[in-house]
Amino acid sequence: MIIANWKMNGTRQSVATWIQAVSNNINIKDVNPCIFCPPTCYLEYARRLVDENDYHIEIGSQIVNHSFEDESLTGGISTTMLKDLSVEYVLVGHSEQRNFLKESNNVITKKIEKALEDELSVIYCIGEDIDTKNKNEAYSFLSEQLDVFCQLQITHEDKLRSITVAYEPIWAIGSGLNAEKDYIEETHGFIKKYINDHLEWDKLDIYPAVLYGGSVNLNNCEEIISSTNVDGLLIGGASLNSETFSKIYNLS
Ligand code: PEP
Repeated sequence: MIIANWKMNGTRQSVATWIQAVSNNINIKDVNPCIFCPPTCYLEYARRLVDENDYHIEIGSQIVNHSFEDESLTGGISTTMLKDLSVEYVLVGHSEQRNFLKESNNVITKKIEKALEDELSVIYCIGEDIDTKNKNEAYSFLSEQLDVFCQLQITHEDKLRSITVAYEPIWAIGSGLNAEKDYIEETHGFIKKYINDHLEWDKLDIYPAVLYGGSVNLNNCEEIISSTNVDGLLIGGASLNSETFSKIYNLS
């Protein structure tokens, strides 16, 4: 799974140009979905372009709110709305939203539950900040973020299969400093073991994929994707350029 997270970038024109260029340039493999997460205001436009042209790109939302339909939330985006637009994926727990929107694990749990209930696939983002890393406390920090899964009121097998984890160390996001291969391998190994040991999803034969995100670019993507326990990439800055993103996809 290779995800383009455009964050707060783009125009209708750049969305159209990108979708067409990427669709023409990637050698799509069913086992490796290509997911485009444009800003919310372009979701419907992106969906339409993909459908009309039968492109093999899936659409993800960068945001969802956990409020139920009978609650009022100015500016809110519900899972029902995303389903209505045939959006397939949603990012939850991105560090920028945890930070700027002060999202707690409690809110994140509700979002995941609601998204899964409404048949959206969830990309759950986790990752430690630099102080936590320097204090050698990354694993306990990540454990707390992973404990969100223990709170889920969902046990239905099919729904749990719709969860993917994205490990994005905060210090690597947008900094140009990706995590080293050894660090990525060890941390992904820890994440997978923690899920295995604490959730018993392995009894259901469910092992969520773990993606890496944080300053992935054309020069480091091959090394990162070939790392043990890395099942895909979540790409911010380098996804904006269609040529770069297509090359990364094809190398993955
Ligand atoms: C992100 O924000 O999800 C991300 C991975 O950003 P970048 O690739 O720019 O570090």
